[in-house]
Amino acid sequence: MDDASASDDDRIDPTILCSHCEAVCCRLTVYVMADDPTPAYFVDQDEYGMDVMRRRDDGWCTALDRETMRCTIYGLRPQVCRDFAMGGGDCRSVRDNDRRLAIAVI
Ligand code: SF4
Ligand code: SF4
Repeated sequence: MDDASASDDDRIDPTILCSHCEAVCCRLTVYVMADDPTPAYFVDQDEYGMDVMRRRDDGWCTALDRETMRCTIYGLRPQVCRDFAMGGGDCRSVRDNDRRLAIAVI
């Protein structure tokens, strides 16, 4: 188990690649800021009235191509997504949580 703190983005694990990940981070709540270039039809509002990426019933962001598991608006994705470092602390944390949940339901 990774013992780094969730905010430890200075230490990047180079063995973690998005191309070998089921876009786990694209099931998180993603806040959209006013100056993000994200197309409006991908944006929803949460229960507090905050702009967030619209998600499907199964939790994945509607901008994710489910065939390729790649972002269809890569150049227009919110800053939150741009700041989410592959192999960084938050990435490792969300992947660890997802793995634990998967083991729990087996
Ligand atoms: S940033 Fe991390 S969690 Fe997100 S798709 Fe890439 S490897 Fe997976
Ligand atoms: S906008 Fe793109 S990178 Fe961000 S959560 Fe949605 S699919 Fe993932």
